[in-house]
Amino acid sequence: MNASSIKPFRVGAEWRHASDETQILTSINPADGSVAGRVTRATPADVDAAVAVAWEAFHHQPWRHLRPDQRATTLYEIGRRLTAERESLARLQMIDSGKPWKECLHMVDAAAGHFRYYAAVCETWQNEVTSPRGEYFSMALAEPFGVVACITPWNSPIMNEAQKVAPALAAGNAVLVKPSEETPQLALELARICGEAGLPEGLVTALPGLGEDVGAALVRHPGVRMVSFTGGTETGRAIGAIAGQRLIPVGLELGGKSPHIVFDDADIERAVAGVASGIFGSAGQSCVAGSRLFVQRSIYKRFMDQLVTFTRELRVGLPDDANVQMGPLVSQGHRDKVAGYVDLARAEGGTVLIGGDRPRDARLERGSFYLPTIIDGLTNQARACREEIFGPVLVALPFDDEADVIAQGNDTPFGLAAGMWTGDYARAWRVGRALEAGSIWINTYKQSHIATPFGGFKDSGIGREKGLHGLRLYSQVKSMYFGMHAQPMGL
Ligand code: NAD
Repeated sequence: MNASSIKPFRVGAEWRHASDETQILTSINPADGSVAGRVTRATPADVDAAVAVAWEAFHHQPWRHLRPDQRATTLYEIGRRLTAERESLARLQMIDSGKPWKECLHMVDAAAGHFRYYAAVCETWQNEVTSPRGEYFSMALAEPFGVVACITPWNSPIMNEAQKVAPALAAGNAVLVKPSEETPQLALELARICGEAGLPEGLVTALPGLGEDVGAALVRHPGVRMVSFTGGTETGRAIGAIAGQRLIPVGLELGGKSPHIVFDDADIERAVAGVASGIFGSAGQSCVAGSRLFVQRSIYKRFMDQLVTFTRELRVGLPDDANVQMGPLVSQGHRDKVAGYVDLARAEGGTVLIGGDRPRDARLERGSFYLPTIIDGLTNQARACREEIFGPVLVALPFDDEADVIAQGNDTPFGLAAGMWTGDYARAWRVGRALEAGSIWINTYKQSHIATPFGGFKDSGIGREKGLHGLRLYSQVKSMYFGMHAQPMGL
């Protein structure tokens, strides 16, 4: 074992090194199957140690008691350091996750933006003072929980972590981050940068480990007082059940099967591009991917022809090629899962209009690539229409009118997002209000803003991240009353 190439992780002042091969997580570069990095794997015993160190930091370091503007200074510094290391972090992101270079840069920029935003929130946050109804005044304060666990998926490393760590720190908590075993490297870098920016030791610890042991140990640990999870709905359900038993709050950002609707009065050219980027961006590995397309029947054939032509032009290739629009899927195993859904759709009577295979290109042979795929001829009840595929697979269905598309759009267990293309804003308002989803996009898709809340309805989650809601997620409210009575209080 070449120990020097295996990254350790840090619990407080102590570096933890793998002592044998069983203690290593190997990250594979999805573009070519090479080793992207080897990381020491945390165990449940490390969770115990990390929780103890985090509690120590929470209770005995000044962080929670700092004035918000003082916390802001460190959060700004973390953002600045992320930006200073933009290129090297993006490079690590690219080999860990296989995302195209431009997207990797965006992930780092977004992560830095989260820290800057929550620094600004710290500077401007106001607690509530209630108008008195007697000889007292009362106020509601946001207090930290203590130690919070943040568990993240593989599809947007560093951005997913920053979206949790920045507000959790802003609220005064200590944070334990467990990244996905598929992409364990960026969280280690984020923890390092947090320390270098001046956060006290133990306030942010990254624990690269497996979900079923390290993730589960975090959720069950009595010292963890809040869990913030992003990942699949079934994992979220299991975490929510444990949190329910423990009576601790959870934030759950889960899966989706978002309807993307095109009305016959839409600007077709823009809608075609919007629908394609809504599903094929990030190779479909996006929780908000517009994976169920509904096109009004009167324009169905014309729209689908244009969409297939547009999709044929998409450039699938190696992530470090600046012209590439779609990179590989995160792993060979995940590609097999995606391909399995396409086979299932065929078996259920679907027609593959384009894609449905891996690219036939010798340069991509060793990577886990899959072509952008469009399927029609299924009903909304088919498994490919009901289950999250999390890959570049779009299922298309026609609809007749507003009532029909609202019924079909909402006929899903999920409720993360929805989009529509129409020239009629009154219709957009009606349909947008009727759709059961946490984010609705009109004549745009996958737009996001750090200050705009994000989260799901139904099986897509509980709670909201981003914006002021993001800070509230990591805070508990304490009400305080100050008596001003002129006379002693009697019974
Ligand atoms: P996943 O649920 O398999 O894993 C997510 C994380 O949970 C990983 O770190 C994993 O190790 C951990 N984990 C697994 N089992 C656990 C357990 N029993 N206890 C505690 N932790 C456990 O999800 P994934 O495959 O990594 O990511 C893809 C999923 O994430 C998709 O469903 C996608 O929609 C969802 N996602 C949602 C959002 C959102 O904001 N709503 C964003 C990105 C991804």
